[in-house]
Amino acid sequence: MRTQVCIIGGGPSGMLLGQLLQRNGIDNVVLERKTKDYVLSRIRAGVLEQGFVKLLETAGCAERLHAESFSHTGTYISYGEEIFRIDFVSQTGTPVVVYGQTEVTRDLYAARESSGATTEYNVEDVVIEGADGDTPSVRYSSNGQQRRIDCDFVAGCDGFHGVSRRAIPDNVRREYEKVYPFGWLGILSETPPVHEELIYANSDRGFALCSMRNENLSRYYIQCSLSDSPDDWSDQAFWDELRRRLPSDYADALQIGPSIEKSIAPLRSFVTEPMQWGRLFLCGDAAHIVPPTGAKGLNTAASDVHYLFHGLIEYYETGDRSGLDRYSETALRRIWKAERFSWWFSSLLHRYPDQTEFDRKMQIAELEFLRSNTAAQQAMAENYVGLPY
Ligand SMILES: Cc1cc2nc3c(=O)[nH]c(=O)nc-3n(C[C@H](O)[C@H](O)[C@H](O)COP(=O)(O)OP(=O)(O)OC[C@H]3O[C@@H](n4cnc5c(N)ncnc54)[C@H](O)[C@@H]3O)c2cc1C
Repeated sequence: MRTQVCIIGGGPSGMLLGQLLQRNGIDNVVLERKTKDYVLSRIRAGVLEQGFVKLLETAGCAERLHAESFSHTGTYISYGEEIFRIDFVSQTGTPVVVYGQTEVTRDLYAARESSGATTEYNVEDVVIEGADGDTPSVRYSSNGQQRRIDCDFVAGCDGFHGVSRRAIPDNVRREYEKVYPFGWLGILSETPPVHEELIYANSDRGFALCSMRNENLSRYYIQCSLSDSPDDWSDQAFWDELRRRLPSDYADALQIGPSIEKSIAPLRSFVTEPMQWGRLFLCGDAAHIVPPTGAKGLNTAASDVHYLFHGLIEYYETGDRSGLDRYSETALRRIWKAERFSWWFSSLLHRYPDQTEFDRKMQIAELEFLRSNTAAQQAMAENYVGLPY
């Protein structure tokens, strides 16, 4: 098979890039290791920056988002019984949009299917060859048959555990990582959210987050030990612990019900440099991971796609490769700022095993400063709603 861009990975990065290219007449093939149903069942992010929404509009995939999403003009932060709001719109003029990653992916899959573009599921043993030359190719197996796609460029959109990042030689690639000493236990429940906006809670017992997908679907998280398993936590134990971490008015208002999904995610900050090698370009989780506290994982994937898409368009329309040549440098500049924000917001809200009483006092002092200082709120809001592309 021959295509212009071979995209490895059918998560949000790969499908968004594929759809943008398809609409601009650039032929591409997506190779996905799992089934479509598996990809669509993954419960992950839910807060989208306006930049992401604009990209979905450009991709022709924002109709359902505009009909069903929620615009959030601010967020709440609590510590103990104290709670305050940061108003995104008065600080930055911009709200965020609450719409699940599952729904984004569903819309992208529907658009791809109606465009007739090729997506291969259940592929195995993907190997990238010749990315440092002029004629890259991707080998893989499907239904027991060996296949090869020759292409102009390879987009590595295959997440943190994919093969693309490791195709960049060790002596070229540099990785930066911080692993946090706790995880997030998350549940999804068909109950009304405790509040119409998100609540980020710093408590003596650890962090909690009250989030949502719609008016009858809530997503709640509590900081947990890395050695915990979801089976260690009955629904009742989860709700009891969540209540203990919220100001009492919100704990009392919490409506509980059976969980329809329960999982533990470890927290990690990770960046690989460079994000390109020859004709291979990495996008999204293949190149970087943030702790989910700042809601930046999916949004940083989108900004990568934006830069790569524009570089490819420029190349195919004018022959100018400069946008592609600068891809890693341009994308990383924004990525590191999102990494900083996610690290800072995580550090502000979690309990750390080695935290001293002094460290705890520093957290509370910083929360009180954020509560009372407009400049601090503006800095937080600008980062949360998303820095410009
Ligand atoms: C449990 C969890 C919770 C999260 N919660 C949030 C959140 O609340 N907020 C937030 O902003 N972000 C969150 N994230 C992060 C966010 O979901 C990711 O940043 C986002 O999915 C990145 O999209 P991606 O397409 O780059 O990677 P992925 O979504 O990982 O997609 C990669 C795709 O590549 C496929 N693949 C992998 N290897 C291969 C291969 N060898 N060949 C072919 N295909 C392959 C995978 O099956 C997958 O479909 C969360 C992530 C996890 C894991």
